[in-house]
Amino acid sequence: MNIDFNKDNGLVPVIIQDNRTLQVLMLGYMNEEAFEKTKKEGIVTFFSRSKNRLWTKGEESGNFLTVKSIDIDCDQDTILIKAVPKNVVCHTGSFSCFGEKNTQGFMYELEDKISQRIDTKAEGSYTYSLYQRGINKMAQKVGEEAVELVIEAKDNNDDLFKNEAADLLYHFLILLKAKGFSLEEVEEILKDRNQ
Ligand code: AMP
Ligand code: ZN
Ligand code: ZN
Ligand code: ZN
Repeated sequence: MNIDFNKDNGLVPVIIQDNRTLQVLMLGYMNEEAFEKTKKEGIVTFFSRSKNRLWTKGEESGNFLTVKSIDIDCDQDTILIKAVPKNVVCHTGSFSCFGEKNTQGFMYELEDKISQRIDTKAEGSYTYSLYQRGINKMAQKVGEEAVELVIEAKDNNDDLFKNEAADLLYHFLILLKAKGFSLEEVEEILKDRNQ
């Protein structure tokens, strides 16, 4: 790996990405020594411009970043590290230095919202009222939406078809939650099959 450390006083910007979700967690800088230490230990060490010394992320908080992969950009002056974060990354307590938003995608945001409606027993929520009617009812709704999707598949109305597809995904997430499973577990099975 031939990194060009000569452009900015021996420092190169390093983007830290969550190895699982690919969420951008933070940006730091490394000099050659920090880079070598990071490679050797498998834990991210930056060169801190404010501390003016090597800074192992997590040295005080214990919130280390374990390196999974290191990539260099097209002209060798920026590093991308995929890492597994321990607890939160930001010193403000936020998961990422760029905010909390779930960047796994909207389905995961919806899953969170459904969980929250159910866990807080949200008054007046359709999600929670369906949940209260029990597993059989939730499973039946998934079946109904699937049948509606099948029916629309035979017609030529794109809007109706897409709406039934959305209904199915939504009710599927409720059933998944009620059964105590997560979207991620299902995704893992699909990923394993796709190897
Ligand atoms: P830590 O490296 O997590 O033990 O934190 C030590 C100190 O580094 C903190 O008190 C902050 O000043 C600073 N720090 C920690 N995490 C970050 C971060 N993600 N971005 C900028 N500064 C940080
Ligand atoms: Zn570049
Ligand atoms: Zn931060
Ligand atoms: Zn429907």
